[in-house]
Amino acid sequence: MKHPPAKLILFDLDGTLYLNGVLFPRVRELIHQLRESAMAYGFLTNNSTIGPGSYFNKLKRLGLELNRRNVVTSAEATCLMLRHLNYGPKIYILGTRKFRSYLESQGFVHSYADAQALLVGFDTELTYRKLTEATRLVLAGAPIVASHPDPICPGPFPDAGMLLEYFRAARPGVVVQAIAGKPHRWLVQLLQERFQVRPEEMIMVGDRVNTDMRFAEKFGMRSVLVLNGAPRPELGDITPTLVVERIGQLCDQYWPENLGWAEPAGKNIVGDRRGRKS
Ligand SMILES: [Mg+2]
Repeated sequence: MKHPPAKLILFDLDGTLYLNGVLFPRVRELIHQLRESAMAYGFLTNNSTIGPGSYFNKLKRLGLELNRRNVVTSAEATCLMLRHLNYGPKIYILGTRKFRSYLESQGFVHSYADAQALLVGFDTELTYRKLTEATRLVLAGAPIVASHPDPICPGPFPDAGMLLEYFRAARPGVVVQAIAGKPHRWLVQLLQERFQVRPEEMIMVGDRVNTDMRFAEKFGMRSVLVLNGAPRPELGDITPTLVVERIGQLCDQYWPENLGWAEPAGKNIVGDRRGRKS
């Protein structure tokens, strides 16, 4: 596929920019370089344990330069999805207190008795009581939706996708109605609205084939799979545009301009003897 020049680069977080809260080498430098360039950037995570405000604070604490608009999470895409599907305001939120409070800040109400749907998030505060309530809703026929589909979060930790399997076992044949995060379309809608950029002008950088790379491929973005020391995963039917050993290599060797993916920043180098594409 022939792409127009890229205008927005998106980074997955867990396993891509950091692991267990520790940044991979040269990530600060990479974000600083982007800050100085014409390319917009976004932090795009499926992780729904915390809301976008908490992510902003977390990334800031890690020393990354950013504004609030740079953070795009599955929690925001979840609200868009729920409104579009007309679920709510009362829903059962199977997630952390922070996830619940973000949804409540957006007008949703956590309810067991009157839940119109079961929303499955990455619940690191899961209890037997919550599982029982959610199971009863599924058995009673409540529609199931999820913030994202990942079965395992890098760590590794059991994630929302594992809970979806649990509910599929609870009621064989049950269908998950909709999922908000990568690789689904709600995030694309959010990105287009916020950055005014088409998917063909986006670059998706991530460590997961089935979420990050599939997301990019499905919507026609360029994609960069970063291994960061992990073994090369099975690609199946997915073809990343590029596979890179370490995220830090994006600072130089795989800098978008150096790949010919973006307009060179200075007009003076257009058509220079290095023969860069303009
Ligand atoms: Mg990841």
